[in-house]
Amino acid sequence: MREIDVGVITERVKGLCMEANFDLGQDVLDAFKRARAKEESPAGIEVLGQLEENASIARQERVAICQDTGIAVVFVELGQDVHLVGGDLNHAINEGVRQGYQEGYLRKSLCHPFTRANTGDNTPAVIHVRIVSGDKVKLIVAPKGGGSENMSRVTMLTPAAGKEGIVEYVVQRVKESGPNPCPPTIIGVGIGGTFENAALLAKEALLRPIGSENPDPELASLEGEILERINKLGIGPQGLGGRTTSLAVHINMMPCHIASLPLAVNIQCHAQRHKEAVI
Ligand code: SF4
Repeated sequence: MREIDVGVITERVKGLCMEANFDLGQDVLDAFKRARAKEESPAGIEVLGQLEENASIARQERVAICQDTGIAVVFVELGQDVHLVGGDLNHAINEGVRQGYQEGYLRKSLCHPFTRANTGDNTPAVIHVRIVSGDKVKLIVAPKGGGSENMSRVTMLTPAAGKEGIVEYVVQRVKESGPNPCPPTIIGVGIGGTFENAALLAKEALLRPIGSENPDPELASLEGEILERINKLGIGPQGLGGRTTSLAVHINMMPCHIASLPLAVNIQCHAQRHKEAVI
């Protein structure tokens, strides 16, 4: 049994909150470049160039990529041979978020749902813990912006809807969202499981690097089909028109009840932020 002090987790989460907000992943930057080379709309080309420049400034000057620095979503893969000592895991993660958002001058974006009073330190984080084999702890911090999260949906299709129904729903969701989720977007799709599980599958699908191939050939083909349909909508970068409405569609799937076909669409804006660390 390996002992890990939760103070280490606080330190890592703190750093990851800042890095995620300052330093857009290379996969996203590469996707901007590829999209720019293919984009036909002058406004779209201009916007994609601005997104690259914005990301470059944020990285160099260590400032936030976007004013909406997000709700801190934290995924934890906790090795079953790890014994956490020195305090409570949830507390340690929230302390890391608190310190990271304070030190990084990141906007505090959480409030009481009714009074809208700000919690003041961007906590509580949304924490997903999964027990895995081994003696390590993997942390992924994925700040999620409100604009794109607001456009996300979970629905329970009838089994008869099938693949066609799934494609129609996802494309329609992106169409109805228009410019609101700050395109170009990444579309996380969760199929199967239960109501709540579909949403988590969709969110986890967003963590896959843009440009990577889905290991399931059927899902890879479905991703391509949906992306093609989405990019014919003409919404374009920042909704100003063009071919690049989405950079990628990522699907996660698991079996579901014989009576159900759960489907979740988690829309991610161009500020596709996530950083990870293994302790
Ligand atoms: S949806 Fe994304 S890009 Fe738009 S304001 Fe929020 S974080 Fe920024």
